[in-house]
Amino acid sequence: MLPTLVIPSACYHRMLKHIQACIPEEACGILGGKGMNVELVIPVTNREHSPVRFYMEPLELLHALETLESEQLEMNGIFHSHPTGPQIPSETDIKEFLYTGIPTLIWSYTDTGWVLRAFQICKGNYEEIGLYLE
Ligand SMILES: [Zn+2]
Repeated sequence: MLPTLVIPSACYHRMLKHIQACIPEEACGILGGKGMNVELVIPVTNREHSPVRFYMEPLELLHALETLESEQLEMNGIFHSHPTGPQIPSETDIKEFLYTGIPTLIWSYTDTGWVLRAFQICKGNYEEIGLYLE
């Protein structure tokens, strides 16, 4: 059975608001929680300010990780957006992925609006995982 990440509606909307605010640039951030249950969304500035790639601003990322630690939560996801697609991890996402074992969530913009999908990226490849919106 596929592992499934559980996302409360408030967290879903927090991410959506952030990625919409960053259009046309890619937006990014981290998720914290326990196991596969997401409890917190922390947006992080995309240092690249690019529509086709992202790099989380290192100091902000550090502060975000400190926040998780003080809340006794683990990082259990990384999200970013593809304002012009694709819905799946890009070659760069796969090549530059630094967080083995942490789910990657991709928001992509399609004809019918934003689509959210989740993946595990590992050893130059990826596999889709489940998402359950609470
Ligand atoms: Zn990407």
